[in-house]
Amino acid sequence: TVLEKNGASGSRILVFVRLRPMARKEREAGLRCCVRIVNRRDVYLTEFANENDYLRLKRLRGRHFTFDAAFPDATSQSEVYSTTTADLVEQVLQGRNGSVFCYGATGAGKTYTMLGTVENPGVMVLAIKDLFTKIRQRSCDGNHVVHLSYLEVYNETVRDLLSPGRPLVLREDKQGIVAAGLTHYRAYSTDEVMALLQQGNQNRTTEPTRANETSSRSHAILQVVVEYRFRDASMNVIQRVGKLSLIDLAGSERALATDQRTLRSLEGANINRSLLALSSCINALVEGKKHIPYRNSKLTQLLKDSLGGACNTAMIANIGPSNLSFGETQNTLHWADRAK
Ligand code: ADP
Ligand code: MG
Repeated sequence: TVLEKNGASGSRILVFVRLRPMARKEREAGLRCCVRIVNRRDVYLTEFANENDYLRLKRLRGRHFTFDAAFPDATSQSEVYSTTTADLVEQVLQGRNGSVFCYGATGAGKTYTMLGTVENPGVMVLAIKDLFTKIRQRSCDGNHVVHLSYLEVYNETVRDLLSPGRPLVLREDKQGIVAAGLTHYRAYSTDEVMALLQQGNQNRTTEPTRANETSSRSHAILQVVVEYRFRDASMNVIQRVGKLSLIDLAGSERALATDQRTLRSLEGANINRSLLALSSCINALVEGKKHIPYRNSKLTQLLKDSLGGACNTAMIANIGPSNLSFGETQNTLHWADRAK
């Protein structure tokens, strides 16, 4: 979708799907794969056992989806990065904001895609690595400053993942809406960043009943701000600032069943307000509406300057392969389909 706003250069929302591999446990339990990805774009959802049956589904509505790209389960982290995020990193260096989201049910592969592991770092780490490489290629004069912040929105409470403590208050200032007191970590190289992010991820709120497990209701937001100064042809000093937001969203499973209801009626109903508000904003942007309801949640307030307007957005919908999660997968694909 190409969005035009007040004649300004349009922003784009690109929508991707990533299928995670079948886990050994799932295979051992005899679960079947209910997703086929064809031509790196088409996703077929099937309840049939036969490997070839998906072809028959081409004519069935609601079971065939096409996206900007769809990644089969063997796709590497670096391919996911280069297809979904590399362009946005380039744009950030031009002073433009951008955001990348991972959306999907708990267990679908969001954190793996965003953060990854030490052996297979994900989009967050690869983006920062790429950023430093590009900066080094282009300027050697140390005029670039890269700052990271990593925060969590959990039950509409904002917390600093790099310096855990009391909840942060959102304030509106000249730059927009900011979390007061948030740590801005100045990064000099990629090596330090992976450890920092892994540590931050450990600080995400855990469900009281499931210690050691990251809560499925926590959104983690990494923001990378690149600031630099240079002189133009007439020797004026130009300052450019670009911001990239990388977001590992809360599990979508709770929000889905109640998608049609209003936010107000969901108060206290254990539903993720930020996730619903994000969906409303994206739908409003895609439909070209003038009013985008950023104010409805902490997540959308924090991302106001990185979503819509002249920003680029990539949405990665993560899905699991197993026929047991057929319903969740279908919901995620429908959600992603509406974001196009
Ligand atoms: P989520 O964050 O959506 O709840 P995770 O990213 O934690 O899901 O993924 C669930 C499990 O599946 C983890 O053990 C993770 O390592 C594994 N996994 C997810 N995606 C992949 C992938 N593309 N390749 C290999 N393992 C994956
Ligand atoms: Mg996760």
